[in-house]
Amino acid sequence: MTAPDTLAARWEQLRRRVDDACRDAGRDPGEVTVLPVSKTFGVEVVREAVGLGLHRFGENKVQEIRDKSGPLADCGIDWVMIGHLQTNKAGVVARLAAEVQSLDRPKLAAALHRHLSDEGRVIDVLVQIKTSDEPSKYGLEPDALLPFLDELGGYPTMRVRGLMTLAINTTDQVTVRGCFRRLRELRDDAAAHGHDLPRLSMGMSGDFALAIAEGSTEVRIGTAIFGARPYPDSYYWPESTG
Ligand SMILES: *Cc1c(COP(=O)(O)O)cnc(C)c1O
Repeated sequence: MTAPDTLAARWEQLRRRVDDACRDAGRDPGEVTVLPVSKTFGVEVVREAVGLGLHRFGENKVQEIRDKSGPLADCGIDWVMIGHLQTNKAGVVARLAAEVQSLDRPKLAAALHRHLSDEGRVIDVLVQIKTSDEPSKYGLEPDALLPFLDELGGYPTMRVRGLMTLAINTTDQVTVRGCFRRLRELRDDAAAHGHDLPRLSMGMSGDFALAIAEGSTEVRIGTAIFGARPYPDSYYWPESTG
């Protein structure tokens, strides 16, 4: 047995809960990846997670990717951008990130393409969709998805692999699940229009079981692996400031 309340124990327990959620949903646990979200935690903690065999980490601020990628350069980490990305920071992301899941507007796509071309890099991207009516959530409006996908087809620096969303922030499980269902239906609709989008990044510490029941292929987990964050989300996560 691993000692309780260590990173190793929390990671094992979380992976077990994800596997259970898959089985409850009649799905193979091998279909669902966990993306550990290391935002607000320092390089020592991330290094400890690397020691557990984790090599992809989600961050929601460009600054944190910049600060951590240098000291952790020996770890072979794939940094995944999951937070709102300002166009003027696209250059840093094009240089340092292995993947962007928060691609949500044409102007950002154009900027990323330009910088990725300069870097000679090709990365995987997910399109972030707004699946709730919360005024403060980022993401592309669902209606705009098909034209956006056509536009992205003109950017060989980005492989569009799927969709990402954040569910509405409420304790009402039916409403939360509705957001996840909406993302899956959008994916199916895009497939009917010739766009193959195998990946659905949806579900966090508090709602991953609902997301898995609706077809998530990747859950983004911070708190359940790393513990409570030292600062409120509003500090690191602009959309929750309203
Ligand atoms: C912080 C964050 C998560 C993880 O949240 P937890 O509730 O701590 O698991 C997932 N997705 C995004 C976009 C985030 O910013």
